[in-house]
Amino acid sequence: MLQRIIPLDTGKLLTRVQLDAYDPESESWQKQFARRYVHHAELDGVLNNMENVNETVYDKFAIAVTPYMAQLMDPDDPQCPIRMQYLPTFHEETKPGFATMLDQLGEEGDTVPGTSIVHRYPRRVLFLVSNTCATLCRFCTRKRMVSKATGSVHKEQIERSIDYIAANTQIQDVLLSGGDPLTFDDQRLDEILGAIRSRAPHVRFLRLGSRMVVQMPTRVTPELCAVLEKHRVQMVNIHINHPKEITPLLRRRVKLIQKAGIMMGLQTVCLKGVNDDVEVMRELFLQSIEMGVRPYYVYSTDMVEGAHHFVVPHKRMLELYEGLRGWISGPAVPTFIVDGLGGLGKLPIIPSYVNEELLPDGSGTTVKCRNYKGMTVEMPGLGQDFSLPTQSN
Ligand code: SF4
Repeated sequence: MLQRIIPLDTGKLLTRVQLDAYDPESESWQKQFARRYVHHAELDGVLNNMENVNETVYDKFAIAVTPYMAQLMDPDDPQCPIRMQYLPTFHEETKPGFATMLDQLGEEGDTVPGTSIVHRYPRRVLFLVSNTCATLCRFCTRKRMVSKATGSVHKEQIERSIDYIAANTQIQDVLLSGGDPLTFDDQRLDEILGAIRSRAPHVRFLRLGSRMVVQMPTRVTPELCAVLEKHRVQMVNIHINHPKEITPLLRRRVKLIQKAGIMMGLQTVCLKGVNDDVEVMRELFLQSIEMGVRPYYVYSTDMVEGAHHFVVPHKRMLELYEGLRGWISGPAVPTFIVDGLGGLGKLPIIPSYVNEELLPDGSGTTVKCRNYKGMTVEMPGLGQDFSLPTQSN
């Protein structure tokens, strides 16, 4: 473990020498939050070979990097998969050649007026409870709300959101997201989760999405886990895009969540240059399942402004899936997803392994199957209907 050997001032940015010696477990998450780098010039000297981007990138999206994430970045390599996820590049200013939208998933159209509830599916809601994150990802789907955030979603808006959940008894599933819900302190989380549980007993599944667990694992403490357990949060989904993000510190803090009896899932975004590689994905999902976090979704990059250079073509995503199915443990294979433009919802990107075809004589159909190695077999029986005739009186 790294030992802090240089005296630090809270709120001061760490130099390269200090960063090398910095132990993220030596101070509170709030103090680490105050040490975030928020301009690429602040990282100059901490990282070499920094791209000197135009200030206009900040008009579109802010920058924020925790000291812990800066430690994970290769000090010299601009192609480091962690650097690429968090540092701005001139690509963000180039013309993408396709339409980008601020709200490409149509969440605003499905937002209940006066609340931060996105109600798209009949029995479940997305509760965008926070509008800030510990570290800002260049490909973020919700740039419209997390960039330039000045604080949390208004208290009244949160209250109205809980009113809505309480009043609509068909809602069974609530996902707290943002932004990142863990940017709240434990006391505020306790209030929000407690209000949902006490006022909406019809909610059967309460889950939380957080990348802060990965960007600042020290946010996960026994006290936080006690709050989550107290309010019966059943699942915490984390977001990891590259095996470099799975560190001994992350594993230890994930274990705390698991000890509270909470299921954990992994979400990944398929990013060109970061993880559009079969070996990288195999390693990521194996390491994830090893720590008891079930790979859940791999999303295609959404067409948000300034993120087009990350988009992996649909055809390549199919190849990546084929490189996983059969080659690694079944439970480690996530579902690949594209989020349909304008609010169509989550649509699976899955190669076809089983196809039904018409028999040459037109008398019926046969089913042709292909396995992960490309071996095929015909299963004509699967094309038939073996229903027993109904008994006549
Ligand atoms: S952690 Fe999630 S919400 Fe926050 S900036 Fe990254 S992708 Fe966006």
